[in-house]
Amino acid sequence: MLRLILLGPQGAGKGTQAVRIGEKYQVPTISTGAIFREHVKNETPFGLEAQKYMKGGDLVPDELVIAIVEERLKEEDCRNGFLLDGFPRTVCQAERFDQFLKSLEQSIDKVINIVVDKQVLIDRTVGRRVCKVCGATYHICYKPPKVEGICDVCGNPIIQREDDSEEAVTRRTEVYIKKTQPLVEYYNKKGVLAVINGQQSMDKVFQDIVDALGVK
Ligand code: AMP
Repeated sequence: MLRLILLGPQGAGKGTQAVRIGEKYQVPTISTGAIFREHVKNETPFGLEAQKYMKGGDLVPDELVIAIVEERLKEEDCRNGFLLDGFPRTVCQAERFDQFLKSLEQSIDKVINIVVDKQVLIDRTVGRRVCKVCGATYHICYKPPKVEGICDVCGNPIIQREDDSEEAVTRRTEVYIKKTQPLVEYYNKKGVLAVINGQQSMDKVFQDIVDALGVK
């Protein structure tokens, strides 16, 4: 049983590490950003509302986010734990989430905060490309696809996410510092925070996470 939160700004490598953690500890990864993008793609009422905020790099209002997360965590596959990527993003979300877990007599085991310098984050995010169909991620310099513009995994076109434009990334960084950064102190006070240096190789970052979790 492992209930985890991955904290860190866009470009910190949360998505990459989430996949590896999920595989090693056999817990589902729940990415609010990915859930929201699916809603936007399917043009659900929630998706149409969320898109207004996501496009410019702003946060989706807390009430909408919390409802979606609670619904997802009630699903069968979360019975043995979960890894949250991109949630909570505000102190309000964290407080509401604590209440929700308490009502289920549960609590968070660890919050992994991946730390990376601001300029590196912008560079990583603006160069990021994703597959429109399968969601595989690339970087124009650090991890280019074998054939330019085409996904190695499924052969479909890779694109830049609308909110990875330089303007939106700058906005998201500001929003992160103002709204999400306070969560570091919030979870530190609770004694569940692990700080990980994100400017190392992917393998070393993963190893540090495994060590911090203390579960082999
Ligand atoms: P991400 O893929 O985590 O970078 O999320 C993409 C976008 O979805 C963010 O820039 C926000 O607009 C929205 N989003 C994702 N998670 C949350 C959250 N927990 N609270 C508010 N908005 C969120």
